[in-house]
Parts: sequence; C-alpha cells; structure tokens
Amino acid sequence: MDFSVPESVREHRSKIRAFVDKELIPHEAEFLAKGFNKSLPFLEEKRAQVKQLGYFGPQIPKEFGGVGLGFMEFALISEELGRCPFAHFVFNCQAPDAGNMEILAEFGTPEQKEKYLRPLASGKIRSCFSMTEPDSPGSNPTIMKTTAVKEGDHYVINGHKWFTSSADGATFAIVMAVTNPDADPHERASQIIVPLDTPGYKNVRNISVMGEPGEGWASHSEVKYENVRVPITNRLGDDGAGFHIAQSRLGPGRIHHCMRWIGICERSLEIMIRRAISRELAPGEPLARRQTIQNWIAESRADIDAARLMIQHAAWRIDTVGAKEARNNISAIKFFVADVLQKVVDRALQTLGALGMTDDTVVAYYFRHERAARIYDGPDEVHKLTVARRILQDYAAKMMG
Ligand SMILES: Cc1cc2nc3c(=O)[nH]c(=O)nc-3n(C[C@H](O)[C@H](O)[C@H](O)COP(=O)(O)OP(=O)(O)OC[C@H]3O[C@@H](n4cnc5c(N)ncnc54)[C@H](O)[C@@H]3O)c2cc1C
Repeated sequence: MDFSVPESVREHRSKIRAFVDKELIPHEAEFLAKGFNKSLPFLEEKRAQVKQLGYFGPQIPKEFGGVGLGFMEFALISEELGRCPFAHFVFNCQAPDAGNMEILAEFGTPEQKEKYLRPLASGKIRSCFSMTEPDSPGSNPTIMKTTAVKEGDHYVINGHKWFTSSADGATFAIVMAVTNPDADPHERASQIIVPLDTPGYKNVRNISVMGEPGEGWASHSEVKYENVRVPITNRLGDDGAGFHIAQSRLGPGRIHHCMRWIGICERSLEIMIRRAISRELAPGEPLARRQTIQNWIAESRADIDAARLMIQHAAWRIDTVGAKEARNNISAIKFFVADVLQKVVDRALQTLGALGMTDDTVVAYYFRHERAARIYDGPDEVHKLTVARRILQDYAAKMMG
C-alpha cells in the first residue's frame, strides 16, 4: 500500500498552506467576532485572491471553471483548509455546497447543471441540503415525513425540516421528500431542487447551536415547505433514487470531512504546544515541563497520525476496490476520527486554561461547533453498529461454510 502524498499535490499543498497562514488565520478573531454577514466583503476579497492563485473550487470539474483536482488530492488540501474555520468557504469547497456540486455534476441534467451548478461553481450563489426532520429520526430517514406529490407536471412539497445548514441566504435547497410511499424503504424518496424564493417555503429560524444562532453560510435552519410547487424537471436523478444519490454523496464526502477534522486537530495541537512552551507556572517553569501536558502532546501526535493513515487507507480502498467494498473503512473513519477530533480539541482547551474558554483563540469555536462531528452524517452508534454487523455476518458465514 502506498500512502505517500502524490507528487502533483505537494506544490499545491504548500502554496495553500502559506495562503491560509498569511491571509486567513490573522483575520480569524475578527471573523469570529463579526459573524458571517459582516465578514462577507472580506471573504469576497479573499475569494478574489484565491481565484488569482488558481485554486478557486479545487474539487470542481474544469468544465465548470474549477481546478478539477482528483479525490485524493482534494482530501489532502482539505486538511490544510481545515486549519481555519472559513478557509473552505474562501476556496469554494465548503459543505454543503461542495456535496451539492458533486451530486449536480453526477446526476444533474444539462439544464440543471447550467442553472444551478455553474453559478455555485463560480461562487455567485449558495445552496443547502434539506433532509433531516425534527419529527422523525435522522438515523433512519426511510421513515421521513416530507412528501412530494405529483400534480400535472409539478411536485407539491409539504414538510418540516431542521438542521438545513446554510439555508439562510441560500438560493436553492436540494430537498429529500417521499415521492413513492409504497415502494421499498430505500426507493421511497427523491431529491428535488427547490429555489428558495418559491411561494410556501419558509425559513422559520436559525437554530441556536451551542449558544450561537449564526447567520448566512455559518448557520443551521429550521424550515417549512407548505404546498411548495416546483416542476417535475427539478428532480435530481431518477424517481425514487434519493437514497442512492445520498449514499454516493456520503462516501467521498466522509473522506473530505475527516481530512478537514485532521486539519482542525493539527491547528489545535499547534496552539496547545505554543501555549505549553510559553506559559510559565513559575519563573523558568513552563507548562510544557509537566508530564501530563507531555502525555497529551504525545498522545495527540499519535492519535492524529493514526487517524490520518486510516483515512488515507480508506481513500485508497475507495480508489482501488470501490466505495461499496470499502464501506467498513468509510464507517470506521467516521467514528474513529470524530473521536480523535474531540479528544485533541479538548486537550488543547484544557492546556489553555481560562484562555481556552475565550474566543481569543479558535479552540473554543472548534470545541463548540465540531461536537456535531459525532452526530451528522450518521451518529457514531449507527456506524459502529453497521461495522460490527458486517464483521459478525462475515464470521458467521465463514463458520457455517
Ligand atoms: C451541525 C449539524 C449540521 C447538520 N447539517 C445538516 C444538513 O445540512 N442537512 C440535513 O439534512 N441534516 C443535517 N444535520 C442533521 C444530521 O444529519 C442528523 O442530526 C443526524 O442524521 C442524526 O439524526 P437525528 O438528529 O434525528 O438523531 P436521531 O435519529 O434522533 O438519533 C439520536 C441519537 O440516537 C442514537 N442512535 C440512533 N440510531 C441508533 C442505533 N441504530 N443504535 C444505537 N443508537 C442509535 C445516537 O446516539 C443518536 O445521536 C446536521 C446536524 C448537525 C448537528
């Protein structure tokens, strides 16, 4: 197995790291204090610089104006961008737009690509993905309640969703809705593009998450669809293919999320080490001399390196045997890396003492917002269950045969 970094990506990586360090990280505190909307002129200025550098939309196919980097190359870049909370946005590869661009590129009709993918790829508009509901379990979306009923050449959508990330200010949503209630559970739903100026759509509120309602791209909305009418041609892919498309979005998407988390871990560890060296408990007695702190540094180094190798192995399996065969690897990195993320950020916060609780460093922001890593894209427990079930099934089959 070859886990070395492809030669092609080394240069991109060091240029992107230098840009993040010089142009973005120094403005982090201001971004955290001002919020997304007031920071938008600054973010647009930085986006223009990234366009000049030639890295805007690293993962977007060239035909839509992106850089067209491969799956593994983008994963490695995602680690560099994870070191600053708004770097993915500045490079136009932020969730949920990146996932939406991916499925529009793969399943969109030529008209959908022109109308929705092209302006997303150029950074002119934003989008959101609307699947989870307050009144049904996100862990088992086959029993979701939102419906899309055909009336002539339109769908009429009714439903109540929440945690539709980045809906505030988005131009359209990709909505998961039941279109075939009598079909097999995984063939009941379809994905439908809903422009958010369609009558009947309502953004109820930006949900307060860990004390912050957020705004714009950095927010999670509760939304309602009340008799929302959109043409049937707004359906993405086949009738009833909603879960199939969602699955295709999640496999490579998890690699990118996990690599972003590695970037967050590296940044938190950097901040922790700097503080451990500079903070003196007594004259000439830096915090770094204490064994507990040294243990945390060593354990974090080992945890991060183990997690990164595991992600690269999963990516390599996706590339060599396909996402289906690599299902266990993909599920395992989701819960394993989310756990490493939590531990490393927590150790950094503890090392900083009271400073760790403030927004004077980015650690508290990561601590608040990345707790969700163990919940979205499938909670830990669901991934552990599916990994264990497959292992047990394989053993049972071997023991029988
Ligand atoms: C910050 C954030 C952003 C999000 N962004 C989006 C988005 O953009 N679009 C979108 O559609 N959704 C989004 N989500 C929603 C997310 O996908 C769901 O929260 C997730 O799928 C879990 O669903 P649920 O919250 O309904 O939890 P539930 O399904 O109610 O599960 C609750 C808990 O039960 C336990 N559990 C569940 N199933 C099992 C099981 N089989 N065995 C043992 N224990 C189990 C787990 O501990 C789980 O955390 C986001 C969530 C967060 C927190």
